[in-house]
Amino acid sequence: MNVVLDLDGLDGLIRELRAHGQVVVGPVLRDDAITLAELESGADLPSGWGVETGPGHYRVRRREDAAVFGHSAGPQSWKRFLHPPRRALISSDDEGFHPARENAPDYVFFGVRSCDLAAIAKLRQIVGGRAPFVVAAQCTEPGEVCFCASMGCGPGADAGYDIALTERIDAAGHRFLATAGTDEGAAVLSRVPSRAAAPEDVMLAEQDVAAGAQRMGRAMPELNLRDLLAANRDSTHWEAVAERCLTCGNCTMVCPTCFCVSVEDTTDLDGNAERAQRWASCFEIDFSYQHGGSVRTSGAARYRQWMTHKLGTWHDQFGTSGCVGCGRCIAWCPAGIDITEEAAALGRNHDVRGE
Ligand code: SF4
Ligand code: SF4
Repeated sequence: MNVVLDLDGLDGLIRELRAHGQVVVGPVLRDDAITLAELESGADLPSGWGVETGPGHYRVRRREDAAVFGHSAGPQSWKRFLHPPRRALISSDDEGFHPARENAPDYVFFGVRSCDLAAIAKLRQIVGGRAPFVVAAQCTEPGEVCFCASMGCGPGADAGYDIALTERIDAAGHRFLATAGTDEGAAVLSRVPSRAAAPEDVMLAEQDVAAGAQRMGRAMPELNLRDLLAANRDSTHWEAVAERCLTCGNCTMVCPTCFCVSVEDTTDLDGNAERAQRWASCFEIDFSYQHGGSVRTSGAARYRQWMTHKLGTWHDQFGTSGCVGCGRCIAWCPAGIDITEEAAALGRNHDVRGE
């Protein structure tokens, strides 16, 4: 089912989803970035805002049009809703122990790009939880750090959504081709003001997404990364990365698929205590602490661990790469370290050594 929505129709779609008690989360402009927050109406979307990205670089910029999905991945991902940064597990006080209550709302994820659709599927394989209703936004303007096409994760979304929107602004107006991916998505669309899509609407949307694939900022090298990483545990290249890496862990925090956690206990002076789970990073020295010491004490060992798991051993664990090519780790690395360049450099060094 394909229909076309105008801006009022898009607003109607958000209101229709909210009318059923769901919490609609989507992109908003906040703190000079495109972040994710609850949407009350179409007016909350970042109309006319785009982004400029590069290694260690992210800036919002004014667009010349009023596109609402004209931006690539921001610092936040849907991970924070599926796998919150901090989650209470149990607390205790004078009256005893109290298991924490799980009260995650019924989410609608609105404006999910294809890289993040793939990330949601990978993350849910690990953390489980209720499936959100997903409104995807087909990506027609990838950013400078994007490489989803080379990871097989975009820029077009072909599964994993209830509704997919493709935005277009031209002489015929500002509109969205809305494609239902599930019966539930079709039912929602039938309750929103729209017009039937003409074959030309579908053709233009397909052309826009195909053109987006040609504008991808970079690509992961076509190498067998799993085998390359397994063979390069002792490569000198890890030291070369460590000279630049600050082991800050930003790359793991922004990555939509990194899922590691730690458990911490806190107490107060009144005798109350809480045990909580929080996001952890393999760049923390304590992350590999085992009976008396950390296993990975150097930056080289920690970067190697991150990249080897993400691109290599993730295949052994989950049958797929852990990377979807969203580019967040490149934009938000203060040292501008680029995972695609590091993979390419590792491949070149491997060839030079003739292994
Ligand atoms: S490793 Fe980097 S590019 Fe790949 S999914 Fe994580 S943040 Fe995105
Ligand atoms: S690669 Fe970049 S973001 Fe990741 S830990 Fe090193 S300096 Fe921080």
